[in-house]
Formats: sequence, structure tokens, C-alpha cells
Amino acid sequence: MDSSAELQPLNSVVSFVAQPRKMLIGGGWVDATSGRTFPTYNPATGKVLAQVAEADGTDVDLAVKAARHAFESGPWRTMKPCDRSRLIWKLADLVEQHTDDLAQLECLDNGKPLVYARAVDVAAAVEFLRYMAGWATKIEGNTIAISVPFMPGARFHAYTLREPVGVVGQIIPWNFPLLMAAWKLGPALAAGCTAVLKPAEQTPLTALRLGELVNEAGFPEGVVNIVPGYGEIAGAALAAHPGVDKVAFTGSTEVGRLIIKAAAGNLKKVSLELGGKSPNIVCADADLETAIMGAANAIFFNQGQVCSAGSRLYVSERIFDRVAEGVAGVAEKIRLGPGMDPASEMGPLVSEEQMNKVVGYLSSGYTEGAKALSGGKKCEGNGYFVEPTVLVDVRPSMKVVKEEIFGPVVTITPFKDFSNLVHLANDSMYGLAAGIWTRDLSTAHSLAAELRAGTVWVNCYNVIDAALPFGGYKQSGWGREMGHEVLELYTEVKSVCVQL
Ligand code: NAP
Ligand code: MG
Repeated sequence: MDSSAELQPLNSVVSFVAQPRKMLIGGGWVDATSGRTFPTYNPATGKVLAQVAEADGTDVDLAVKAARHAFESGPWRTMKPCDRSRLIWKLADLVEQHTDDLAQLECLDNGKPLVYARAVDVAAAVEFLRYMAGWATKIEGNTIAISVPFMPGARFHAYTLREPVGVVGQIIPWNFPLLMAAWKLGPALAAGCTAVLKPAEQTPLTALRLGELVNEAGFPEGVVNIVPGYGEIAGAALAAHPGVDKVAFTGSTEVGRLIIKAAAGNLKKVSLELGGKSPNIVCADADLETAIMGAANAIFFNQGQVCSAGSRLYVSERIFDRVAEGVAGVAEKIRLGPGMDPASEMGPLVSEEQMNKVVGYLSSGYTEGAKALSGGKKCEGNGYFVEPTVLVDVRPSMKVVKEEIFGPVVTITPFKDFSNLVHLANDSMYGLAAGIWTRDLSTAHSLAAELRAGTVWVNCYNVIDAALPFGGYKQSGWGREMGHEVLELYTEVKSVCVQL
């Protein structure tokens, strides 16, 4: 890895990471009650990037109390929707104005190439916040003509109100740290909720910077609280807290199950955006050049650390060799390097743990008989780099085909006909997304209907938009984020029935 061409971080970024970062509770920046901090690392070097206050149950309790106070007694409760909308829009403007430093922080903390941090993570966070700002003024109930057969002669006026669910706990992963914070906070704020956000231990920095912008935008104290720390401590305390009305989680299916158990104490509402092992299908009639590039991007974008990554590629046996060699060819040309080098197309994985996990999957694949057409191992030298890898000679029972690897590894399987294909594609505990590459309209729509997945992309992949609902079938989650559907997650419906 040649790191000579790396950009120097902006002064604002250097000074942000130079001092231990505090947590945001009740509008103020505070140390952990215990005084403890934890390190966050630069995955391109393995060196400590910054120290961050480590929240435990006591801090989470303080944050939940601040959020409760802000929900029940603060100015947020009585604020007009148009003013909530303006604040969220202002936050979007501030994020946009700070694109450079936010993108650099994301790149240093997560490892992703700077060019993507700017163009995808920060830009999509801005657009999403603006989209949600618009919803703040459009949350409506209905008037309902009711019959009440057991009260003959009585007349009624009945309607529904859509009200904020209350204090929400939000727990997010490390793959798109700023964007996930925006996905969580945007709809909660639009709906009038107050929030306690726990960023991932590997990547807390952009959420903390976002917290500064929340204060700069002028949100009332306690509306947004941010408690960095470890999942088993701060995350678990938030998921179990009796003062939290709803918990929204994005991360592994395994931790998703723990969230459900923790939420059972006070039966808080739960929404989950979990893992995936998404099938991506190349039909014999597809535009092969586009499909090959699309299939490679579907898995290699963000180092493969994308919940909707197209990690199981199914290719018609008639074009199998061409597509497999094509995707392997793209993989071999990808330039790996530190995210801060403008020439890097793929960065390191987020952590040593994640790198070891991915390498472990590769070994299990080889033991079970899979063959690497490209890549196949971790890179020599510093940082947590793994080569973009294409595996063939795979069977449905192999771990590399069944389990979410969350790294730059795709398996390619040939298929004979569509009935065999649909069975293979749906043979997963997950159901987050799927891709289809074909020129045939009928094939596209028939397959889209057959696939058990929350999103189906046709002749494109990972096209995610604020207005398009996103979420999982089966063990990929509960509920839909984005679009107007996300408002269901952050509101309660109240029926009001008036006898006239
Ligand atoms: P994870 O453990 O599920 O982490 C997601 C979030 O949950 C983090 O903020 C984490 O805190 C927190 N958490 C962990 N244990 C918790 C608990 N007992 N109670 C409450 N919160 C808890 O995911 P990971 O360990 O970072 O990654 C593991 C695997 O998850 C990956 O290899 C990948 O397969 C999958 N993953 C999926 C997504 C997705 O978008 N669907 C995103 C990331 C990872 P800590 O940061 O302290 O662990
Ligand atoms: Mg973890």
C-alpha cells in the first residue's frame, strides 16, 4: 500500500481528534460519570485516532432523563411543526457546510475512501435530513365515519391523531456512521420525538460532530443526546431502559435478538434493520458489460460492509464464465489504499476484528472447497485491508454462501432455469435486498414478485433514496426506514371519538 499521496487532514479535524471527545446530554458536553474514555482507531494504520468518553448505565440514565424532560416539559413539545421543520433543514445546511471536515472524520474513523465519504455519506445525510424536514409539517390523522351498530340513533365525530412515540433510543453501526445517525435522528425529530443515540464504538466521531451541529442549529436542550460507548454496556442499558418508549437498531441479527429481549421489560416499540445475504441475479439476456460492473460494485462498495451488499451472485450457466471472469477482472483492478489517498478506490475494513472475521470466512470457504478467482486474502502491511475476492465452486450449504461476511467477498453460483434460481435466491434466513440484471421486462417483474426481499433493484444496485422505503423481510428486520413509512416507527395513532 502506497500511502505517500495521502491528504493532510484539515486543521479543524486535527483539533477535533486532539482532545478527548465528550458526550452530549441535556444540551451540554460532559465527561462520562466514571471519567472513563475509550480509544477509536484509524483502520488504515491501526493507530489510535481519538479518545472518547465512555458512557455506562449511569450516563445512559442521565441522557434518557434529559430526553424525557425535553419531551414532556421543554419547548420542543409545543413547537410548531414548521419550526421543527426549519431546525431539521438548518441542521442539513450545517452538515452540508461542513462536508469537508465530516467526510475526513468519517474517512479516518471508518477507513472508507474520502471521495465516497463526501459523495455518498455526507451528501446522502444532507438529502435525507432535508427530506425528513419536509415531513414535519405533513404528519396527519384521518376523519373517520363510524357506525357503532349497538348505539342506534347516536351520532359521532371520530378522528385520528398521529403523535410522537416519545423518547427513542437509537443504536447504530459503523459502516455508514454519519448517514445512520441521520437516518435515525431525521424521522424521530420530524415526528416530534426526543432521542438518545448510541454510535458504534468503532466510529463515534461523526455522530459527535453532528451533535455539535445540532446545538449550533438551535435545537432545544435534551432533544438530541449522544452517548458513545460499548454495545454490551451503553447499548444494552439503552435498549433495556424503562424510560425509553421505542428503540431503533441497525446492526447484526444476533444483537437484534438481544435488543428484542431487552425491550421486553417495558414492551417498548422496536424497529430493526439487520443483516443480509442478498442475491444478485444476472440473466443470460442482460447487458453484460453493465451487469458485470454492477455486480462488482454491488459487493465491493464500502469494502463490502453494506447490509444490502449483493454478496450471493447467481449467473445463468450460459454466461457464467464470462461474468465470473469479468467480476474477478474488475476486482483485480480496484486500487486499495488509505481513504485519505484520493487515488484509493477501496479502503481498509473498519477494525482488526472485522478483518479477522472476513479472513476466517475465506479459510472456511477454502476448507469447504471454494476457489478464489481473484484476491482471496488479507493484504500485507499495516491497516486492516482485505483483497476484493470472488469465490467460485461454491455450494448452498457452505458458510460463505449462507452467512453474512460483511466484507469484500462475493460467491458466484450458476443457475439453469428460473424455478431453480428462485429457490436458490430465497434460500436464506435473510431478506433485505436483491438485484436482477435482464433486458426482458417480463422476467424482471416476475422475478421481482418472487423474491422475498424488502428491496429489489433491476439493472442497478444499492440505489437508496430518502423517499424509497428500506428494510427487511425474514430475519433482516422489523419495519421500514425512509419514505413516509418511517413515520410509522416514530408515531403513535390516537383515535378520538366524540359523541355529538
Ligand atoms: P453489532 O454488534 O450488531 O453493532 C451494532 C450496534 O449495536 C453498535 O452500536 C453496537 O455497539 C451495539 N450493540 C452491540 N451489542 C449490543 C447489546 N448487547 N445491546 C445493545 N446494543 C449493542 O455489529 P458489529 O459487532 O459492529 O458487527 C458485527 C456484524 O454485524 C458484522 O460483521 C455484520 O455482519 C453485521 N452488521 C450489520 C450492519 C447492518 O447495517 N445491517 C451494520 C454493521 C454490522 P458496539 O459498537 O460497541 O459493538
Ligand atoms: Mg460490536
